[in-house]
Amino acid sequence: MPPIGVTKHFNYLVVGGGSGGIASARRAAEFKNVTVGLIEKSKLGGTCVNVGCVPKKIMYQAAHFCEEVKDMGDYGVEFEGAFKGFNWGHLKPKRDAYIQKLNGIYGNNLGKSEVEHISGAGKIIGDRKVQVDGKIYSTDHLLIAVGGFPVWPEVPGANKGITSDGFFELETLPKKTVVVGAGYIAVEMAGILQALGSEVHFLIRHDKVLRNFDEMLAQAVTDELEHSGIHLVKNSNVKAVRGNQPNLTVETHEGHVIDGVDCVLWAIGRAPATKNLGLDNSSIKVDKKGHIEVDEFQNTSSKNTYALGDVAGKYLLTPVAIAAGRKLAHRLFDQDKEHLKLDYENIPTVVFSHPPIGTMGLSQAEAEEKFGKDQIKIYQSKFTALYHSMTERKQMTNMKLVCLGPEEKVIGLHMIGRGCDEMLQGFGVALRMGATKKDFDNVVAIHPTSSEELVTMR
Ligand code: FAD
Ligand code: NDP
Repeated sequence: MPPIGVTKHFNYLVVGGGSGGIASARRAAEFKNVTVGLIEKSKLGGTCVNVGCVPKKIMYQAAHFCEEVKDMGDYGVEFEGAFKGFNWGHLKPKRDAYIQKLNGIYGNNLGKSEVEHISGAGKIIGDRKVQVDGKIYSTDHLLIAVGGFPVWPEVPGANKGITSDGFFELETLPKKTVVVGAGYIAVEMAGILQALGSEVHFLIRHDKVLRNFDEMLAQAVTDELEHSGIHLVKNSNVKAVRGNQPNLTVETHEGHVIDGVDCVLWAIGRAPATKNLGLDNSSIKVDKKGHIEVDEFQNTSSKNTYALGDVAGKYLLTPVAIAAGRKLAHRLFDQDKEHLKLDYENIPTVVFSHPPIGTMGLSQAEAEEKFGKDQIKIYQSKFTALYHSMTERKQMTNMKLVCLGPEEKVIGLHMIGRGCDEMLQGFGVALRMGATKKDFDNVVAIHPTSSEELVTMR
């Protein structure tokens, strides 16, 4: 029987049905006699499925085709008619239908796992007590995995623009876009829009994008953006957006005026969704940015209450939320797994830029600061992939290994170039195993590929 006033009591209750929440709930439900509930206020699958990784990658794929269609002619591939460009109206409904299908699959999977799906917004009303539409649910263990949302700037006319959420609602390709920001989303979306045929003006506050990545990557991707035809406006800060759709004018404090714009895309970061969660009714602590503070085991400051994924603010990546969620479920409900936790070191990540970035471990600057310059040896390579030997369009490949100490343990691997997105996962295994440069060198190269460069650097 649930306590008085409580609709239902669970062993594990999860708030947020995105990457981390679903993974953790379903894994917990695998253990005997563990009752699990999952509260989701919107579509199942969260950011990644609905307005993140999945629809983004579909658009990236389309962009990739548009880029390569130009190369095909250089290889002698001929078409009967001319290439007519990208048909947004063809792909958008198809993409939406696929996402809808995924939402259904996620719902079915919750059912199969016997996780009770509670639809509505959850609000914490006390220790391990959550209210949804007037009903109260209590639990032995509470997980908060509510993710985040895109930040809007405080400039006049900001609401005339869109964020990444709005990007996925666009029904047509914008003719002239202004992208503002300098992180993953700005880089990925500017590249997609440019390749699909929009005229892209990309406004960044400094002289490079991805400034917290290894310097080589930041410089190389900035160069490639410019080289691709994107109008990169460096050292610029937006002052106002004026006019009305589809004829907006973007003005910067530095005196730039970009007019005739039909899409302003803000990609200036994300904030945790902790505002209306009722955290005041609990002892859960948040940091200055609103992220829930957790220890290395995902414990919050409130007993038997946990947080992970974007709301915890560390590595905002789907596989991180999933891995943390599954590990937590094992720690709480599996036998002899009470020490299990996600190791947040050496997490591989890809930016779907043009060409893509694959990066893992410490940047050169981080490594030199942590261990001292004399302890670090850098191996680098810059080349044009064989693919581009026949194409007029050129993109460079850059690779860097950051090695530590006399044994030259590889503690950082950074690359940008054709295929680097798919290349990283396997090398990730090697780095996690503590591979040294010698281990890399002992692997016979695969020829002709770009990845062979990683095992032949001198
Ligand atoms: P989310 O997936 O955001 O899930 C949180 C869920 O909680 C949401 O469904 C929300 O509706 C729900 N919720 C919020 N408040 C409440 C409440 N009070 N009650 C009930 N439910 C609530 N990561 C990658 O690894 N690779 C990529 O290529 C990639 N691309 C991305 C592209 C874009 C445009 C964006 C925005 C993100 C991308 N990410 C990518 C990041 C990735 O999507 C997130 O890191 C991941 O979704 C975080 O998972 P989560 O479970 O923490 O939160
Ligand atoms: P990020 O935190 O990656 O980057 C935002 C950047 O915008 C800042 O670093 C800053 O760069 C710039 N910025 C901040 N405020 C302003 C402002 N007012 N005006 C102009 N520029 C500003 O955020 P994103 O929104 O790009 O992405 C959020 C997270 O989602 C990422 O960190 C990543 O973890 C995840 N993601 C992952 C993807 C993947 O795995 N491929 C793809 C997309 C998202 P600066 O200081 O240089 O100006």
